[in-house]
Amino acid sequence: MALTEFDLIHQFFSDMGASDHVLLGVGDDAAIIDTTDGWVLHVSTDTLTEGVHFLPDCAAPDIAYRAVMTAASDLAAMGAAPRAMVLAISLPEPDTTWLEAFCTGLRDASADARLPLVGGDTTRGPLVITVTVMGETPAGQCLLRSGAAPGDRLCVSGTLGDAAAGLSLLQGELVASDPANAAFLTARFLRPTARIGLGESLRMSATAAIDISDGLIADSTHLARKSGVALHIDHRQLPRSTAFCAVVEPSQQLHYLLSGGDDYELLFTLPQSTALPEGCTEIGRVMAGSGVSCDGMPTGKGYDHFGHR
Ligand code: ADP
Ligand code: MG
Repeated sequence: MALTEFDLIHQFFSDMGASDHVLLGVGDDAAIIDTTDGWVLHVSTDTLTEGVHFLPDCAAPDIAYRAVMTAASDLAAMGAAPRAMVLAISLPEPDTTWLEAFCTGLRDASADARLPLVGGDTTRGPLVITVTVMGETPAGQCLLRSGAAPGDRLCVSGTLGDAAAGLSLLQGELVASDPANAAFLTARFLRPTARIGLGESLRMSATAAIDISDGLIADSTHLARKSGVALHIDHRQLPRSTAFCAVVEPSQQLHYLLSGGDDYELLFTLPQSTALPEGCTEIGRVMAGSGVSCDGMPTGKGYDHFGHR
C-alpha cells in the first residue's frame, strides 16, 4: 500500500471535524467535545457490512451517506441535537479513488446531519463501516420508546415503504416504467434522511418515539412493548409517495408499508390536543392493552417476513 495509515487518515478523514462543540478533533488519542450545562449525552452506534447491509456494487458515496444517516437516525429518535461522530472503517485495500468517492458521501452526510467527524479507527479487512454518533438533549427532555399513553395519536413522518420499494427495484424484483420514480425510490433506500430537526422539535410534545429502520410493524411493536400500550394502525392513513403508488401494485402496497424497512422516518405519539407537525401523518391511535394491530387484525406474526434482511 502506497498510503500509510497516517497519510490515509490525514488525507481523507481529518477535515470534517469543525464545530463550536468540537474542542479537539482527529489527530490525538481522543476527541474532546464541549458539553452543554444541564444537558445529557446520547451515544449510539451502527455497523454496515458489505454483502449484509449494502450490496457489493453499491457506490462508495452512498455507502458513506447511508452509514452516517442510519446512525444519525437514532439521535433523531431521541430528540437529540447532533454533536459529533466517529468512524471505524475496515477496508480491504486502500484505493484512493474509492476513498475519495466515499468521502464525498461522508462529507455530505456530515453536513446534512450536522455531525462533525472527530475521530475513528482505520484497519485492513473486509469492508465494514461503524459510525458512532453523539448528541445532546436537555436533561429530562429525551424522547424515549416508553411514554405513549392510551388516547395519544400515533403519527409518522414522511412516507413509508419507499426504501423497501427502492431496494426491490435495485434487486430487479420491481420495475418502474418512469425513471424518475425509480430514481426517487432508490434514493430513499441509498440516501435516507435522518429526521434530526423533527426529532428536536418533538422533544417537548411527543410522549414516545422510535425511528423506523426495520419496518412499521416491527418498530411499532418495540414502542408498544416499551410503553405498555396497544397501537392500532389504520392502513388507509399510511402515507405513500406518488412514486411508490406508481411502482408498487395496490395488492402489494400494504406489505411494503407495514414490513418494508430502511425508511428512517420517525414513529411517534402525541397527546390528543397537540397539533401534528408539518410533513407528518396520523396513522392510528394508542389504546390500553398490548401489541400492534392493523385495521383490527393483530400483526404479531406474518408481517415480519419481508425477505431482504
Ligand atoms: P490510536 O492508535 O491512538 O488509536 P490511530 O492511529 O488509530 O490512533 O488514529 C489517529 C487519529 O486519527 C485519532 O485521532 C483517530 O481518532 C483518528 N482516526 C483514525 N481513523 C479515523 C477515521 N476512519 N475517521 C476519522 N478519524 C480517524
Ligand atoms: Mg486507533
